Amino acid sequence: MLIRGRFAPSPTGPLHLGNARTALLSWLAARSAGGAYLMRVEDLDGPRVRPGLEARILDELRWLGLDWDEGPDVGGPAGPYRQSERLPRYAAALEALRAAGAVYPCFCSRAEIAAASQAPHGPGDEGPRYPGTCRDLPAAEVARRSAERRPAWRFRVPEGTVAFDDAVHGRRVHEVLAETGDFVVARADGIPAYQLAVVVDDAAMGVTEVVRGDDLLPSTARQLLLYAALGLAPPRFGHVPLVVGEDGARLAKRHGARSLGELRDAGADPAAVTGLLAALSGLAPAGARVTPRALVSGFSLGKIGTAPAVLPAGAVEALVRP
Ligand code: GLU
Repeated sequence: MLIRGRFAPSPTGPLHLGNARTALLSWLAARSAGGAYLMRVEDLDGPRVRPGLEARILDELRWLGLDWDEGPDVGGPAGPYRQSERLPRYAAALEALRAAGAVYPCFCSRAEIAAASQAPHGPGDEGPRYPGTCRDLPAAEVARRSAERRPAWRFRVPEGTVAFDDAVHGRRVHEVLAETGDFVVARADGIPAYQLAVVVDDAAMGVTEVVRGDDLLPSTARQLLLYAALGLAPPRFGHVPLVVGEDGARLAKRHGARSLGELRDAGADPAAVTGLLAALSGLAPAGARVTPRALVSGFSLGKIGTAPAVLPAGAVEALVRP
């Protein structure tokens, strides 16, 4: 089977070293398997999308030495490759879920959910577990409330566990109902949620290997539920650890971290930047200068450990020292 990998940047913030490392590893996973590589821009979060950032991100990834066979700037048979241009596809998927009774309208506000939820918060910054307030509203009540406000749509999570084998983290078992509860697949303003859009797109684009940051590991169980509900075949997943500072905290300015664009503007050599990303992944010695192409042979996601990659102090400064 032809391997198809992808990177799916959101043009809401500049590419940082952590995102760049994830991009490099997803590219290496696809290319080392002789596969195709796709670029998809996840720009559904309108107000947060920054004009011009998409072009910059793609430009910086190319500067680093990555290439793609399909994407918003090169086209391809599975396009369009910008989520904002794919809204009818998400609407059709939502309609299919509705017809199957797999989703229900939810009229709760964020504040109501926070107040109603006694359970501990879900993973990451996803807020409290949804307590199921609107799960079994009588039809008459749904009609009455629909006349007042547009609902969000939530997926009715079945009881039980979702298990999958992650290429980096191994066997994962999640109990979605206990972790996040019924989750939103379409917001009240009609914008599809990330969980739905990513499933629709990865399936429609024939993606076979999803390599992304392990902050999204808990999302995968939810996405597998959507694949099943939509009758779609899921890809394989590999979640790579994030890059942290020596203090174990997420990369920030105080670690000397700079965005890819800042490094380029400061005159960094892309081979040295790739070398640092490779060294952070145990693929090259510290201080190496390499092209992504030179790392393809013998690459395996299994070589990437589950521990966060630690950016050594001074490593970024060394890239831009004259
Ligand atoms: N657009 C997401 C992000 O930039 C990535 C989603 C994914 O890879 O599934 O965090």
